[in-house]
Amino acid sequence: DTIGDNLDRTAAAHPDREALVDRPAGVRWTYREFVAEVDTLALGLLSSGLGKGDRVGIWAPNCAQWTLTQYATAKIGAIVVNINPAYRSHELRYVLRQAGIRTLIAARSFKSSDYATMIEEVREDCPELEQVVLLDSADWRTLFETGRSGDPELLAEAQAGLSPDDPINIQYTSGTTGFPKGATLSHHNILNNGYFVGELCGYTEQDRICIPVPFYHCFGMVMGNLAATSHGATMVIPAPAFDPKATLETVAAERCTSLYGVPTMFIAELADPTFDDHDLSALRTGIMAGSPCPVEVMKQVIERMGMREVSICYGMTETSPVSTQTRSDDSLAQRTATVGRAGPHIEIKIVDPATGLTVPRGEPGEFCTRGYSVMLGYWNDPEKTAEAIDSARWMHTGDLATMDEDGYIAITGRIKDMVIRGGENIYPREIEEFLYTHPDILDAQVIGVPDAKYGEELMAWVRMREGAPPLTAEALHEFATGRLAHFKVPRYVHVTDEFPMTVTGKIRKVEMREVAARLLG
Ligand code: ATP
Ligand code: MG
Repeated sequence: DTIGDNLDRTAAAHPDREALVDRPAGVRWTYREFVAEVDTLALGLLSSGLGKGDRVGIWAPNCAQWTLTQYATAKIGAIVVNINPAYRSHELRYVLRQAGIRTLIAARSFKSSDYATMIEEVREDCPELEQVVLLDSADWRTLFETGRSGDPELLAEAQAGLSPDDPINIQYTSGTTGFPKGATLSHHNILNNGYFVGELCGYTEQDRICIPVPFYHCFGMVMGNLAATSHGATMVIPAPAFDPKATLETVAAERCTSLYGVPTMFIAELADPTFDDHDLSALRTGIMAGSPCPVEVMKQVIERMGMREVSICYGMTETSPVSTQTRSDDSLAQRTATVGRAGPHIEIKIVDPATGLTVPRGEPGEFCTRGYSVMLGYWNDPEKTAEAIDSARWMHTGDLATMDEDGYIAITGRIKDMVIRGGENIYPREIEEFLYTHPDILDAQVIGVPDAKYGEELMAWVRMREGAPPLTAEALHEFATGRLAHFKVPRYVHVTDEFPMTVTGKIRKVEMREVAARLLG
């Protein structure tokens, strides 16, 4: 199946179930209505001269039009390029040029970002950019008008001419460790990934998925939208960008059965002063992914939010994205200490980064994966592609992991974040888990900082609970004595209100290391 064929199949099976609810916009479409809107836009895009292989950029926060664009481009085989809503003009210029975008669909503005002005600023540097359509402008409405008077046969023909292996999506990686790279993904890659993720969540047409994570990222667009539409479930948009209170309100009002987020989002929801005012009793499952989940947070998500079957997923943009997932009958320990087992039809091996040989079970090494989910490559970048995917099609992720006897994977960090202090390998994750056990600490992150004597020393960044005194290095030392090996006790403590983050809610340790270098002078 292509994405378009799969959507048609779902709409035929469940025409009257809700497909999409955009709460802030007051939009509510059944599958029959949703597919009609998608087809109209697809025909409009076709009549504007777009077709298979053309790049169409979408630059907007979460909204119904984003989802329409995702499916309408898929129907005609145009390659949708997700553009991060937090980008500024120089990043926008980079993506428009790198992906050779012909048509850009964009919000006029969002929060303090004036998208329309930024687009004008970069337009003359982007010779391939022929058409800019602002959402809710006359141009956007014209696409629908031409679509409505278009010949549905043309769309059917275009759709029939597609192959599941065609590239359909370019997604830039989060930029956690450096400059974003354009992962190029096929229908086969992302449709299967959405389907299998949804299957392991037990989705049926009864499910209603609250999606506060950005659509521009695969978490929202694949694990959210494609998982929903391949199972007939409902996509629910609580707000254009993450807002803990709006998310809680939406789960309650829409009787959502599933809720997504990165751990920091769940932390914010649990800490929201209105938490107890919302009836979350419909919640059964959900997905937590993107970064490691502290045990305490997981417990509260299960106990206070009622997400008994919550999954942990691990993956990356380059693998469509999910590689491993916990199952609903996994134990609490498996759902906190591991990221589950390989998803269906996915191969995994853990290798010694130096030798490339598979390490014994339980030993850390680089997580490598192979199977349907591995991207076609980085757009227009054969060199970076060859660095990431070897000649046997194994994707080398740059993540450190262990695999136990039963195939459960634990992510121990990123190769780039591992700290080597006086010859000892230290995984910041382990220290972060320890810091969470401190009663005054709300959130903690650990990085390595250069040190003349040991090569590297540990620095902890901590957010204190309200009213708690700021933690000092001495107090931490005292707290850790007898509980943590001395070489793992952070030498420096930095109390902060927030961590530098990507829009997807991932901590940018690169940036923390830059700030630390300034702090330590
Ligand atoms: P960039 O590649 O641009 O530096 P990024 O790797 O953060 O950014 P993504 O593709 O969005 O971009 O994220 C994938 C990465 O997120 C993985 O390689 C892994 O390091 C991390 N990750 C994803 N899920 C989990 C998880 N459940 N636990 C721990 N880490 C995770
Ligand atoms: Mg990455």
